[in-house]
Amino acid sequence: MAINDTKSGFATRAIHGSMHTSQPEGALNPPLYMSSTFTFERVEDGAALFAGEKPGHFYSRVSNPTLSALEMRFATLENAEAALSFASGMGAITSVLWTFLSAGDEIIADKTLYGCTFAFLQHGLSRFGVTVRDVDLNDLAALKTAITDKTRIIYFESPSNPNMRLVDITAVSTIADQHNIKTIVDNTYCTPYLQQPLALGADIVVHSATKYLGGHGDLIAGMAAGSADDMLQVRVEGLKDMTGAVMTPLTAHQIMRGLKTLEIRMDRHCTSAQTIATRLEAHPAVREVYYPGLNSFAQHDLARRQMRGSGGMIAFELNADLAGAAHMMNALELVKRAVSLGDADTLIQHPASMTHATYTADERAAHGISDTLLRLSVGLETVDDIWADLAMALDALAIQEVAPRAA
Ligand SMILES: *Cc1c(COP(=O)(O)O)cnc(C)c1O
Repeated sequence: MAINDTKSGFATRAIHGSMHTSQPEGALNPPLYMSSTFTFERVEDGAALFAGEKPGHFYSRVSNPTLSALEMRFATLENAEAALSFASGMGAITSVLWTFLSAGDEIIADKTLYGCTFAFLQHGLSRFGVTVRDVDLNDLAALKTAITDKTRIIYFESPSNPNMRLVDITAVSTIADQHNIKTIVDNTYCTPYLQQPLALGADIVVHSATKYLGGHGDLIAGMAAGSADDMLQVRVEGLKDMTGAVMTPLTAHQIMRGLKTLEIRMDRHCTSAQTIATRLEAHPAVREVYYPGLNSFAQHDLARRQMRGSGGMIAFELNADLAGAAHMMNALELVKRAVSLGDADTLIQHPASMTHATYTADERAAHGISDTLLRLSVGLETVDDIWADLAMALDALAIQEVAPRAA
């Protein structure tokens, strides 16, 4: 249920949010409140604020007017009652999970997760008496078997980082609801423009706002959205008292700027990635392409059901070993070798040695992350230029691979 503005389109809400009220001095954009603390008119006012009897701000680890502007705007985009901002995606994920888990509880996590989330669960939370169960969430029978009376949370990404596996959000949320379990979805790859997990039945969404929401590779940030009760509990427990992973007002301002172009950026990311994925699939040096928009994608139907578009992320494997893949990546000129994603710049990386090096080799094998998988974040450059760079590097590889065999 949207808190307001349900009649406005996505881009209108991304630009105006819920803020139709005028800003100080007639400013078009909300001002930056670079203030750690806020004064009380009288002692009694401070007491009322601390007791939650009066709305308002008193300390920026709890709330800040610039962050509130972003949070209200973001809540309307995710069709949530409330949203919360964090210092990073990991700040959002850890704050949310710490809030709803205690020693003795169990959490079910999908097989494939972003490397640091995996590490937080497997190598972090498990040290504090939380049992983490890895389940292939595409296997609903396995999910039902894994649920116990101690299960509190089911956690997943869709598409997953890095191998693009999808999870049926409605199917998993329905099972979770029957057992009073919270479904938490990392919606970083899609953004609320392409996929709205809450509308599909999930309870909480988390984001690395570092990626598409910021969109320009110049900040680190996180967001969460969900019911007003859940967000309040995360604010006063996980965020305020456990992680303290608070976003700065300047970052909130930059994300609001990013949100203004989110719809047109995502549209462009989607069309360019579709073109690149199609051309990659046809190239002789490429063995396999994982992109939800391809007819060959195993979960193409699910993608069409729960995503508005296929996104800007592609995973692929070459007809080459790791050395060949490194050779191809090193030959790129326009496409940058870098982690992160969702930027205007096209980025390529090697998950096994970079973002997913937090997994042991055995864990990667068990979780479906092959050592030769490459991850491409298709940027906003002219698509033919992106392709020309990739084709140049792939052609060199094809010649290098084929030549010895022909000889
Ligand atoms: C990058 C990323 C994160 C972590 O976010 P940070 O902003 O780097 O802390 C979490 N989940 C996914 C899917 C990501 O891509």
